[in-house]
Amino acid sequence: MGINIEQTRQYYTEIKTEDLCDCDYCKNFYLQVKEAYPLVADYLNALGVDIEKPLETSPLEPVNGMLEYCVCQYVVFGKTSGELVKKIGNVELGVATSYPRTNIQREHFVIDIYPIKLNWIM
Ligand SMILES: [Zn+2]
Repeated sequence: MGINIEQTRQYYTEIKTEDLCDCDYCKNFYLQVKEAYPLVADYLNALGVDIEKPLETSPLEPVNGMLEYCVCQYVVFGKTSGELVKKIGNVELGVATSYPRTNIQREHFVIDIYPIKLNWIM
């Protein structure tokens, strides 16, 4: 397994709430995603990733009280060697090809999960 779970978990432990984006779209995500997508949260947690601490989310606009995030991205340490699952329920998972600068020196990659649909509660 090329993924460094220990380093990944350490990275997420060190991210504080105040390091996260505090726009309403992101807050809406942090507040609900774990409960709404428990299987995705569990899978990410097994990799060391905290689903409530995304590198980036790409929300669309709220429609009828629902908000869809067309992609949510997470940093993972190590290298991927095809061992990631590709689908959890209705949620697809893949290795990101474009994402914001991470400023991380160690070997890492970014995963995409999509789509995530949540109630718009803000
Ligand atoms: Zn935000």
